[in-house]
Amino acid sequence: MASPPIDIRNAPPVLPDEVFIPKEYLSDIDHILVRQRCFNERIHVMAEEISRDFEHGNGLAVVVLKGGKYFSDHVLTHRMMNAKFEYRTVRATSYHGTESSGNVALESDISEDGVKNKHVLLFEDIIDTGRTLDAITQHLLQMNPASVGIAAMLDKPERRTVAGIDSFIKYCGWIIPNKFVVGCGLDFDGKYRDLQHIAVLKPEVYHGK
Ligand code: 5GP
Ligand code: MG
Repeated sequence: MASPPIDIRNAPPVLPDEVFIPKEYLSDIDHILVRQRCFNERIHVMAEEISRDFEHGNGLAVVVLKGGKYFSDHVLTHRMMNAKFEYRTVRATSYHGTESSGNVALESDISEDGVKNKHVLLFEDIIDTGRTLDAITQHLLQMNPASVGIAAMLDKPERRTVAGIDSFIKYCGWIIPNKFVVGCGLDFDGKYRDLQHIAVLKPEVYHGK
């Protein structure tokens, strides 16, 4: 059994001056939801759990680009990770600015031969409406995998419109409030992916976009 996600919906916010933030980003950040130290502690636990569950082999990591790569890199190369995964990527486009647009288009290097009889673990940055993971999960299920599970860094359950995917979520880092977040792989218009905390932007940063 994997540990439940850490619910930080009511946690007191960490102020930007309590952690190190590169000066290029500092004035854009309203507050921090997950600081780097907490991120690393949780990734350690998740890497141990995923390692243990996939030690039998036959694992296929499918990373949802671009946002899921930061998370999957931290988990799959963690010193506690002993399981070996084959590795594929999928790019899903459904999101423009801060609002989800509805339709999901997939572009991937996944083939039926590569998925058949594999234990697939999807790595995603954040589950919002659930449409992206629903489209990817349905696509993979047609290729006769041994199993399909989701490892999500973050979850915003209040935004869910596709509830069917919840039963696939095997590992999840944190449950966060319904706010637009950046950092740890998550961007806004290509920026902030390399921020080492998960943060909420000041509204004026994306206002009008
Ligand atoms: P869904 O299909 O679940 O509505 O949306 C999932 C995708 O939307 C995520 O993979 C991510 O790319 C994007 N997304 C959802 N919420 C956020 C957020 O708070 N911040 C950022 N940067 N992207 C988000
Ligand atoms: Mg994404």
